[in-house]
Amino acid sequence: MGKVYLIGAGPGAPDLLTVRAARILERADIVFHDALIHPEVIALATRARIVPVGKRCSQISTDQRFINRALCEAAMRFATVVRLKGGDPMIFGRAQEEIDALRAAAVDFEIVPGVTAALAASADLGVSLTRRGVSRSVVFATPRIGDDQSAGPEQHAWAHAVAAAETAVLYMSRGDATALTAALKAAGLSGTHPAAIVESASLPGGQQLPCTLDELPERVRETTGGPALVILGAVLRETVLNLTAMANSNPTPNTEARRSQRTANE
Ligand code: SAH
Repeated sequence: MGKVYLIGAGPGAPDLLTVRAARILERADIVFHDALIHPEVIALATRARIVPVGKRCSQISTDQRFINRALCEAAMRFATVVRLKGGDPMIFGRAQEEIDALRAAAVDFEIVPGVTAALAASADLGVSLTRRGVSRSVVFATPRIGDDQSAGPEQHAWAHAVAAAETAVLYMSRGDATALTAALKAAGLSGTHPAAIVESASLPGGQQLPCTLDELPERVRETTGGPALVILGAVLRETVLNLTAMANSNPTPNTEARRSQRTANE
């Protein structure tokens, strides 16, 4: 019986793959991969049969039960089975369904962590999610309900968690920005709460769109179809102010921007 590796491919840039992941891919016999995995990462699996199973891949069924079964069956036939997921497999990656299925079938497995999108977005913005003196907590949340769950009264629990967090990162949040903003304001956030949309973090063509919560629906229209997430919190305040100053093309940075430049250099 073989072993199944649930591997995080990182946020997009192929060189953000871990060395461990690369080594396992090089000896993989079969690779089941999500959509949006960089071709250079898949190309590392030179010996493997490649099976796309992402939502945006049309070749075969993307049903989660199908994937669970396929992983278990592959472990009967191959020594090294890889399940390659975007970012980190354990963050909004449906890893638990696969882990449960592998455990139930007594298949040996290992998780290889990857750089989750939130951290690549923080890097692209040049903003620490835990800036000292500003934020001591980060919440990873999503407003999206999984396909197979019905929306119950707890459906806005995420919004309360986000409103309570000093910094929040919202995955899969571009869908309906107007509803998102409304839910967060109903949960207690102000319309001037600092926000940023980060699209295609770590990738060429990536963009960072700082704004306020109220401006979010409008700024979302500037995104171009790449994966995107929303960051909220006071850690972004100076980013939002600096950008506004730049947009006004003020040749002398305002006091706030000068102050932030000073603190950035500290
Ligand atoms: N397991 C993944 C997340 C899967 S959910 C991880 O750890 O990153 C998919 C969501 O992740 C997307 O809807 C988007 O919100 C976010 N995402 C993934 N890659 C991204 C990227 N390069 N830039 C911005 N957001 C990204």
